[in-house]
Amino acid sequence: MAEKIIIIGSGPAAWTCAIYAARANLNPVVYEGALTEENRLRGMLPLGQLNLTTEVENFPGFAKGILGPELMEAMREQALRFGVRIVTEDITGVDLKKVPFVLEDSAGATLQSYALVVATGASANYLGLESEEKYKNRGVSACAVCDGALPRFRNKPLVVVGGGDSAAEEASYLSKFASDIYLVHRRDALRASTIMAERVLGNPKIKPVWNSVVDEVLGDEERGVTAVRVKNIKTNETRTIETTGMFVAIGHTPNTKFLNKQLEVDGQGFIALKDRYRTTTSVEGVFAAGDVADPTYKQAITAAGMGCKAALDAERWLAAKGVH
Ligand code: NAP
Repeated sequence: MAEKIIIIGSGPAAWTCAIYAARANLNPVVYEGALTEENRLRGMLPLGQLNLTTEVENFPGFAKGILGPELMEAMREQALRFGVRIVTEDITGVDLKKVPFVLEDSAGATLQSYALVVATGASANYLGLESEEKYKNRGVSACAVCDGALPRFRNKPLVVVGGGDSAAEEASYLSKFASDIYLVHRRDALRASTIMAERVLGNPKIKPVWNSVVDEVLGDEERGVTAVRVKNIKTNETRTIETTGMFVAIGHTPNTKFLNKQLEVDGQGFIALKDRYRTTTSVEGVFAAGDVADPTYKQAITAAGMGCKAALDAERWLAAKGVH
């Protein structure tokens, strides 16, 4: 029996879509992602990027702010309250050639669904250095909230790479544990929003290292990371910063690999929406919502809004197809 709608993902877009779809009697299934080490390292565990963050101060309705993981648990719970079925596995393959679509999951099950919503978000980028790969889990991380409190990072100098909101947030968070934070950014101005940038630049523990890139992570088998080598891209001078940890916060890549190129994407790899005001994609019956299809805003609230749109778009499409 084919499902009416399967939603892949477990961030604000997926849960909002699930809540709307359930209330429209579409009996949705949410694939929230599998609990694997690979997903952990790539920041793709269930509940998404907000589950890896701290205080969320800009989601309306929470006057005093709310912790990211609390917000995500509440969304999941709300979906459960309306009878949403949740599967803690990944979707590993899809066949979108005909309706109902065919999906494979990481437990080996084959499923069918008339409508599909892709809300798989985006995962953290790394610099791509061999030495960075070598020390992942031993000093190199892309998630301060997950790893920052480990003993190896306490009262030690730490390096954060990047200049956006994520880097600002990671640096502020880590400043609670570290002795100093070196914020290595390739330009001389932060991309982060004004409020976050001011917070970072006003923090006496955080020292910006402008116009610079990390060109090597240094360490040894026994201790993991011991330092990073940083190059000033204006002067070509290099310096070594002693540190037990490097936190990389240089943006995210949309999670579309499992689609195996069956949906059109834009030049940056985000799922291309057919109509900018809707969530329709290059395949009729497949809808996309949240960071996986949003090169511009990438906010929790915009993802939730897109999730709502995807449910309404799918509901109308299913009705037009006579699927009840
Ligand atoms: P981002 O805004 O794209 O910033 C990425 C940063 O990394 C930029 O400063 C970029 O430098 C730098 N960078 C990119 N590739 C690099 C490379 N290969 N080497 C060195 N540096 C590199 O990404 P983000 O900070 O993850 O934020 C993503 C979105 O989430 C944004 O829309 C942001 O507003 C949102 N967000 C919001 C909050 C919040 O409101 N609380 C928190 C986190 C994220 P350039 O500046 O030179 O391009």
